[in-house]
Amino acid sequence: MDHFLYRDGTLYAEDVPVAEIAAAVGTPFYVYSTATLIRHFTLFDEALDFADHLVCFAMKSASNQAIIKVLANAGAGMDVVSGGEYLRAKAAGVPGDKIVFSGVGKTADEMRMTLEGGIRQFNVESEPEMVVLDQVAQSLGVVAPITVRVNPDVDAKTHAKIATGKSENKFGIPISRAREVYAMAAKMPGLKVIGIDVHIGSQLTDLAPFEAAYRKVAELTEQLRADGHEIKRLDLGGGLGIPYARSNEAPPLPTDYGALIQRTVGHLGCEIEIEPGRLISGNAGLMVSKVIYVKSGEDRDFLILDSAMNDLIRPAMYEAWHDIVPVIEPAPGAAPAKYDIVGPVCESGDTFAKGREMPAVGPDDLVAFRSAGAYGAVMSSEYNSRPLIPEVLVDGDQFAVIRARPTYEEMIARDTVPVWLD
Ligand SMILES: *Cc1c(COP(=O)(O)O)cnc(C)c1O
Repeated sequence: MDHFLYRDGTLYAEDVPVAEIAAAVGTPFYVYSTATLIRHFTLFDEALDFADHLVCFAMKSASNQAIIKVLANAGAGMDVVSGGEYLRAKAAGVPGDKIVFSGVGKTADEMRMTLEGGIRQFNVESEPEMVVLDQVAQSLGVVAPITVRVNPDVDAKTHAKIATGKSENKFGIPISRAREVYAMAAKMPGLKVIGIDVHIGSQLTDLAPFEAAYRKVAELTEQLRADGHEIKRLDLGGGLGIPYARSNEAPPLPTDYGALIQRTVGHLGCEIEIEPGRLISGNAGLMVSKVIYVKSGEDRDFLILDSAMNDLIRPAMYEAWHDIVPVIEPAPGAAPAKYDIVGPVCESGDTFAKGREMPAVGPDDLVAFRSAGAYGAVMSSEYNSRPLIPEVLVDGDQFAVIRARPTYEEMIARDTVPVWLD
């Protein structure tokens, strides 16, 4: 459920007409709904009420400080994957003890920065990383709390680029070697083992792979405890999918997911941590764009928009399907048109949809991409020298620009021409 609905024949973001935002900030832009963000976070939070828990928002899905603040105010922790995300979370006021550091390539500098600034735990992904973290922690005279990310070798049955839990993926250590690795960690004076971490992929639309992974984690918890380790926290990752195509997908709900967690690991008495990104931010955002031209081709019509793959890369990168709707509500029974929906970038990959049936629109009409809140703005670039598009946050009847569109001058001024070329 989200808070982008038609009212009086036009699309609203909560209580603000999308067209009003477009008039104020220009197109294209991203707009997020505060109520949707909070609603999705709360669903997860309540689904874990059976245990001590913390829902850590995966910041890589949407990392604007305003979004971080909305979620942190609602009680969320943060899952970060870089020093930059860590500093953003801190800048948004999130305390270090609610920030979890994930990722396969943490550098010694990032470890130092987060140990000094405060961190809830490191989700360690390899033995070499463990060795470096031990050294950094000892050099600072502190002890780093860690979980080890185990790779349970389950097929998440999602897009290959976002599956992470098979043995062929770069993530975590094979679960079969976990006891050995935990034994090694226990001998390192700069580390303190506190739990286990697992994350098998993104956009999962079936609970079965989670169930398989969490059963393996439960079994491992008992083995590690028998080996003498204190396992008091389980970080079960993120990855629950959202319905991009409203008609034919009905992914599991956070309540079903919570019940699954209770069923598989609830008996262990551990504190539960999860790291959802997409399910919190995905349906909380739209990308709004304007039609530049409708071009008739030989066998098809092209809808040429002012947004492109550099603004929303998911269709080009993951063959993702986004619902694209007109901002003016179509008349009931209006005949649908069929378009290839594309942007102005000079590659054929700059195609948002092929042969898409949607209500007919014309030049200067606004269209909205639904479910664009996750992996949208954060993955945007200035390819083709198109300035990064702005982000807007709505809360009830108010809205604010939370990242401004750079001017052409600002964009160009970032380059430096060496003196020898002058
Ligand atoms: C990407 C990622 C997540 C979030 O995944 P979603 O599909 O957005 O929920 C959580 N944890 C880790 C370690 C990740 O890499």
